[in-house]
Amino acid sequence: MTMVVKELTINQERLQRHMDELSEIGKFGETGVCRLALSKEYKMGIELVKQWMEEAGLQTRVDHFGNLIGRLEGKNPNAPVLMIGSHIDSQPTGGRFDGPIGVLGGLEAVQTINEQNIIPDMPIEVISFCDEEGFRFNKGLFGSRGITGQLEEGELEKKDRDGVTRREALIEFGANPDELASSEYPRGSIDSYIEMHIEQGPVLEAADVPVGIVTGISGPLWLTVELTGAAGHAGTVPMKVRQDALVGAAKIISGLNQIVQQEEDAPTVGTIGNLTVEPNARAIIPEKVTFTIDLRDIDIDRRNRYEAQLRKYIEETAHENGLQFTITEDTTIIPESCSEEILQVMRTESKAMGLDVIPELTSGAFHDALPMAQVSNIAMIFVQSKDGISHDPREFSTSEDIAVGTELLYRTVVKMGTGV
Ligand SMILES: [Zn+2]
Repeated sequence: MTMVVKELTINQERLQRHMDELSEIGKFGETGVCRLALSKEYKMGIELVKQWMEEAGLQTRVDHFGNLIGRLEGKNPNAPVLMIGSHIDSQPTGGRFDGPIGVLGGLEAVQTINEQNIIPDMPIEVISFCDEEGFRFNKGLFGSRGITGQLEEGELEKKDRDGVTRREALIEFGANPDELASSEYPRGSIDSYIEMHIEQGPVLEAADVPVGIVTGISGPLWLTVELTGAAGHAGTVPMKVRQDALVGAAKIISGLNQIVQQEEDAPTVGTIGNLTVEPNARAIIPEKVTFTIDLRDIDIDRRNRYEAQLRKYIEETAHENGLQFTITEDTTIIPESCSEEILQVMRTESKAMGLDVIPELTSGAFHDALPMAQVSNIAMIFVQSKDGISHDPREFSTSEDIAVGTELLYRTVVKMGTGV
């Protein structure tokens, strides 16, 4: 960090201590963390953070989704809540920062508000969402989809690798899966949700700045395409009469690459990350190719436009090469914009802190803020992460950068909670 930030109000040393202590739970190697949702380590982590929340003067509860919530009462206890949070569950070979900085940074911000004797107008809640990562039951954002009424049929019956269902894991953790509805937040009861998270990308490091603010979270469209041609001897079938499914796939791969780059500065990304060739033999013309498409954008209209272009291109390419094709839609998630009002507060507060550059970026990865956007305003702060690495023990952000992000979070919450 090259910028000089004016004095911090938050307690960087305490925040660092909390980060260090939490990273001991589920620790492997020097810097790895394995804290799978609803596991024994997860429960230990929740207990520890709950204790810190209580020391900070918050009222705590663990809900039936496995979320931990710490509440600071406001002048008007019935006003819609200002919520801050993230998650403390991890991938099996995760690191120390993805998730915890948002929960412990949120706690630090609220603890500082309490210590400064600031009483916000509305209640402020710090939340640690259960199972953001989705590794164990192959479906993430569980706690945030849960409190906002967005769980799908049959989710509780999904099993982990050991055959344990989510229902059983919730009971083992101490929650009651038959009481989930009582842990949902009624519509209108959450005003805003703010999440601080590591960037998981290279932008802030390249710009040499500690933090950035997020303008929106991109939504992915996932398709699976199947092209079917005709097999044949690689030595005897003349080029002109071939129906080579892989030649078609190759065209589509480079077509997608061009389609998503039509607008130079747009954050649109398109990826074909999985491809299967049949019969996949050196001397046989590929008969069938199946591949996935991951198309993401922050702007749903542009994404829809590109999807239409892509579908047309697939159809034309299949036709030119004598191929049959099918396109299956696996997932479509609508991108969400962050609240312009909160962004404006963050811009002003970051200037007041002495940050002359505050990059504005979009998030290509999911976060709990995505489902939260269905019911509330959302905003996110990104903290610089080394080499953009995450879901890995090498994940790293400096204590200084996390402190700067937390100070911005604190100032934003004070401004939103008191208007001054
Ligand atoms: Zn995360």
